[in-house]
Amino acid sequence: MNWEYLIIHHTGAEEQDTEQVRRYHRSLGWRDIGYNYVIEKSGLVAPGRSLEIPGAHCRAGGMNTRGIGFALIGNLEEHPPTTEQVDALVGLLGRLMLEYQIPVENVLGHREVPGAATVCPGRYLPLEDVRGKMLKNQNNAVEASLGDSEQILLKTSTGLWIVQVGAFSSRERAEQYAQKLREQGIGALVMKKDN
Ligand SMILES: [Zn+2]
Repeated sequence: MNWEYLIIHHTGAEEQDTEQVRRYHRSLGWRDIGYNYVIEKSGLVAPGRSLEIPGAHCRAGGMNTRGIGFALIGNLEEHPPTTEQVDALVGLLGRLMLEYQIPVENVLGHREVPGAATVCPGRYLPLEDVRGKMLKNQNNAVEASLGDSEQILLKTSTGLWIVQVGAFSSRERAEQYAQKLREQGIGALVMKKDN
């Protein structure tokens, strides 16, 4: 699998929790829940299907092997998601964009995938707002880092700009530094760089 896209869905139903979605998908004979992450109404993010195997959430565009699938519980064609769900979605997307170096233009609603005939993730999911927030977070992180960072490395490969603000020989020190950044409202992710 080569994860290049992040695909947003709604479940289209009002399930109580992720396990209910999982039981339903398994009852269809699937090996596991179709989505890679589920965001419950409380904003709880629950892991779904392993990223080591193809997903089962969007056949169009070959997205089951190219796109990580997220589902917000609810029928968002009928009502908006909860604020907690949108916040959790923005946080999760930001983390995965960084981890897999996915640019914001590859964050798509299911119906935006060419060839997908669906209303998913529903008219009440504010896709443009979500993408706008992702861009803003990226820009804020860049601006905030420029002042006092130990080391800044700006580089572009797939169109996503990565800001590196420190390099540490111990994980503990890296986590401490990341925590300092988070206290200032700057999103930070600790990643191991293999030599
Ligand atoms: Zn969908």
